[in-house]
Amino acid sequence: MTAIRAVNLHKRYAGTTAVADLSFAVEPGRVTGFLGPNGSGKSTTMRMILGLDRPSGGTALVDGRPYHELRHPLRKVGALLDAKAVHGGRSARNHLLAVAQSNGLPASRVNEVLETVGLREVARRRVGGFSLGMSQRLGIAAALLGDPEILIFDEPVNGLDPDGILWIRRLMRRLAAEGRTVFVSSHLMSEMAQTADHLIVIGRGRLIADTSVEEFIGRSSQGYVRVRSPRLAEVAELIRVGEPNGDHLRVTAMSTLEIGTITARAGIPLEELTFVQPSLEAAYMELTKNSLEFTS
Ligand code: ADP
Repeated sequence: MTAIRAVNLHKRYAGTTAVADLSFAVEPGRVTGFLGPNGSGKSTTMRMILGLDRPSGGTALVDGRPYHELRHPLRKVGALLDAKAVHGGRSARNHLLAVAQSNGLPASRVNEVLETVGLREVARRRVGGFSLGMSQRLGIAAALLGDPEILIFDEPVNGLDPDGILWIRRLMRRLAAEGRTVFVSSHLMSEMAQTADHLIVIGRGRLIADTSVEEFIGRSSQGYVRVRSPRLAEVAELIRVGEPNGDHLRVTAMSTLEIGTITARAGIPLEELTFVQPSLEAAYMELTKNSLEFTS
């Protein structure tokens, strides 16, 4: 059974379309990255999946049902949305106990999840004094409390130090390896490339790509050759397949050797003949560059 499904999901706020006709499926046993620039509608989509925001159109299903129809929501799906949205006066342990109690979960899970996220030693400290990293860990502990099959994390690495980032990546990989569904948002391609198996990319609330990370990397790793010459117009005429791009030509259909041979035969000097391999981040920027501004 597909773990999460969005069907023609739509969300309008006054003057803004945050999510537009968005359909996708998230499968178990892998980490699915939900990638898009800031403001592209990731949080809004996640909130609609979790029943925290009402769609203006379409549906979001968890395990085949709308969230509010789940019998034991926290046993089915755990979520980290805003890590700082926790009552600051409570200790970490009391916060988790309160969540467990109000959701009919055994108190014994509290110690287990505190251990899992590495907060056992600070369990009695007030949450108000927690660093962002500790708050993220506490948020993840709360998400894990019901031992859910499905996990939803909204930008979990934001503001973390390198140790924290590594820890969260490993945790997400482990949860997926256990057969769970992990749906995690980020605005950074580099982050997703290291964590996700599958990518759902959105821009301006619309689906841009639904692809495996491998395929995305494969597609975006087609490089090009950059050619600069004081006689660039002649080079362009000779090789014919170059695209003028400011002070250089951009060539995808010929190798550096082919271009070098042709220009050498014609006696044209080159200033530069470089094979350029775009980074993943660059490929992602290219993919989303038309979706950075909003229209209503
Ligand atoms: P992301 O998570 O990708 O950064 P969001 O889902 O937070 O994007 O936001 C998508 C768009 O919806 C943005 O333009 C944002 O300003 C707008 N938006 C989000 N929440 C609200 C709200 N409660 N009221 C009005 N506009 C909102």
